[in-house]
Amino acid sequence: MSIPVPRDDLIDFLDDLDEDGRDDGRGGQLVWTVLIVDDDDEVHHATMFALQNASVLDRPLRLLHARSAGEARSILEAQGPEIAVVLLDVVMETPEAGLDLVAVIRRELHLTELRIILRTGQPGYAPELSVVRDYDINDYKTKAELTHVRLVTALTAAIRSFEQIRTISASRRGLDMIVKSASELFGRRALASFAEGVLTQIAALLKLEPEGLICVRNSVSFVRDIDSSLTIAGAAGRFRAHVDRPLSDLAERDIITTISRCVESRQSLYDDHATVLYLSGEAGRAAIVYLATESPLDPVDRRLLEVFAVNIGVGFENVGLFERLNFFAYFDPLTRLPNRVRFIEEVDQFLNSPVVASDYGVALLDIAGFSEVNNALGQRTGDALLMAVARRLKGAFPEGVRLARLVGDSFVLFGPLTILQPQALLKVFDAPFHARGHGVPLRIRAGFAPVISNAEGMLPRTSDLLRDAAVALGQAKLDPAVRYCAYSAQMAGQARKRVAMLNELRAAIDFQRGLTVHYQPQVDAVSHELRGVEALIRWRNERGEMVSPQDFIPLAEYTGLIGEIGAWVFRQACNQLVRWRQAGEDSLIVAVNVSALQFRQEGFVDMIRSTLAASGAPADRIELEITESVAMEEVDKVAAQLRALKSLGIRIALDDFGCGFSSLSSLSRLPIDRVKVDRCFVAELDPDNAGSGIVHTILKLAEGSGMSVVAEGVETIEQADLLQQLGCREMQGFLYGRPMAADEFDIWLGHFHEEPMV
Ligand code: C2E
Ligand code: MG
Ligand code: MG
Repeated sequence: MSIPVPRDDLIDFLDDLDEDGRDDGRGGQLVWTVLIVDDDDEVHHATMFALQNASVLDRPLRLLHARSAGEARSILEAQGPEIAVVLLDVVMETPEAGLDLVAVIRRELHLTELRIILRTGQPGYAPELSVVRDYDINDYKTKAELTHVRLVTALTAAIRSFEQIRTISASRRGLDMIVKSASELFGRRALASFAEGVLTQIAALLKLEPEGLICVRNSVSFVRDIDSSLTIAGAAGRFRAHVDRPLSDLAERDIITTISRCVESRQSLYDDHATVLYLSGEAGRAAIVYLATESPLDPVDRRLLEVFAVNIGVGFENVGLFERLNFFAYFDPLTRLPNRVRFIEEVDQFLNSPVVASDYGVALLDIAGFSEVNNALGQRTGDALLMAVARRLKGAFPEGVRLARLVGDSFVLFGPLTILQPQALLKVFDAPFHARGHGVPLRIRAGFAPVISNAEGMLPRTSDLLRDAAVALGQAKLDPAVRYCAYSAQMAGQARKRVAMLNELRAAIDFQRGLTVHYQPQVDAVSHELRGVEALIRWRNERGEMVSPQDFIPLAEYTGLIGEIGAWVFRQACNQLVRWRQAGEDSLIVAVNVSALQFRQEGFVDMIRSTLAASGAPADRIELEITESVAMEEVDKVAAQLRALKSLGIRIALDDFGCGFSSLSSLSRLPIDRVKVDRCFVAELDPDNAGSGIVHTILKLAEGSGMSVVAEGVETIEQADLLQQLGCREMQGFLYGRPMAADEFDIWLGHFHEEPMV
């Protein structure tokens, strides 16, 4: 039986299928394409009849016909990927032509997905098993088995296996892409570019034009409207103009509704015209990918997207982490102000811009005693205070003034000096700050550095300005009464000298070199007795020069070295006292100066206690001299500290009395034994007016509170006489003796015993 078959390559016996209806996976009608290769026309016809109106796995069949291995090859070359099954005659031009074609299909054309059913005329003829295995041949049939049922059954099995193989390899391709695109995406750091990359990759995965958007929710929002808390982080196609705007601004309400549904359900949605992927992120951070799709996605693509979504979710978190890292690199996480790095970058940029006028400057400020506030009220209150300071500073100056937190309690501002006035800055700290139920008054010190161009007309760099401002601030800190300082060139020289001095001082302490303690007598002008001595530190530096304590004690205080120095002096004084007592001087009292900083240091009382114990010095022969400024700061705390010292048996003297502006009522709350009249008042004593002078007032006050008084800096007999007339009997000054080294003092003491000069 021979049925003429038209010799065109394509014979569609499915009328309703147009020629463009390729099996492309989407769009158009889906068909299975089957290629029949046989040199016998009859076989073609019989197959066509057998398969008439047949449909396999819900799709119709499209048959292609080839009458030789050569013809089959060219069809396969052109349309190979679309062909699901080849029904292949084994014996054609040559006895092996069919098997040769199998080798071409698998090895040369690399068509590994299509299924092959071998057919042969001779019932007994079957290919070697190894051929079936090596060439991945699906089935073997004799041409007699061309009945409808048998053929459809064989094709169904082959097509099912084809579909599975294709799904797997499509997935594999997709996974390849995901891996590749994910690694490409992870290179992107900014959220917007990452988001756009995600859209592009998804579109490529689905072979679509990228058209969509990605919204992010930065944190758990308390806004009731879900969409108003979403921002468009990245977009492609017509949505591009919406980047960085709230999703709620989008005119297309249906898109907003779809996205909201996705957010609420926390699940990806596949609608007819859109694919919405839900990418969950860390705490409250989620992203939604909205992609316009023309038709619903097929299951393979969906599965791909699910895998992709998980992958991208990870990448998305990485971007979030990176942005956080970025934030930490440039911002202070506590106050959210720019940090030092950011400040320098911004101000450098400004200084490099052509518009800079020279009346700009930097103000560096530092909160006085902030660490004590932190210790007393706790870290959390300290943090809250710093945030309050940041807020107030931010509010106090206009936008153009840049503000940053450098470290700890130090803030910096940059702006026009007309705005950045010292008074304006100090005013910010007029009112107390409130944090966690505490109202805390904060005092600042500030250093100013103006932008001044150098001899070549070059503007300074921000780091130079910061350094200069720090020098000015350091200068301000040297004097407790000074609240701000502006940088000047000679200040830099002084600062350098201070640094050099500090290094030498450090070495002097470490190697016990050049530091000694001198002792200055205090005498009773009435009883002609030696009442005690004041221990005064002396320092001879490496070049043999004497450095005044007036110069190095403030520096030691500023740098904290005073703790070590003070403890050393106290030890020396105790040991010396013990030696004098052993020599029979048992009524002698040694007075030791204590600086404010030392006094406030934790463990100060312990240090005193243990030194007394170690040296064997009796506490009641020790006097500690504290200055008025110490006494006036935080009176209650000071009072407690003084009581602790007094409970050891130690005496307390108030040094340089009359210099500060003590409130007398506060003074009366402190357990003070003795007041030292500052030498400037002694120097100003007026013989004609002694009764109305300040010394007179001090003496009256002391008398009323049961404190004794010693006058400092007594240089002349006239002064001594006047003081005595006013009722002051204890004197200290050059008239009686200068501060002396211990051995010198012993000689002085010998003379004194022989002939007291009082
Ligand atoms: P201060 O405690 O008021 O000590 C008295 C200062 O007056 C001493 O200066 C002393 O030499 C000086 N002086 C005594 N009599 C006369 C006099 O008749 N005429 C004049 N013109 N001056 C007289 P010095 O030794 O230079 O000490 C200066 C300051 O340095 C001290 O003032 C004290 O505040 C501080 N200081 C000295 N030694 C120490 C120490 O070991 N620790 C601490 N924290 N401060 C110390
Ligand atoms: Mg003193
Ligand atoms: Mg004094």
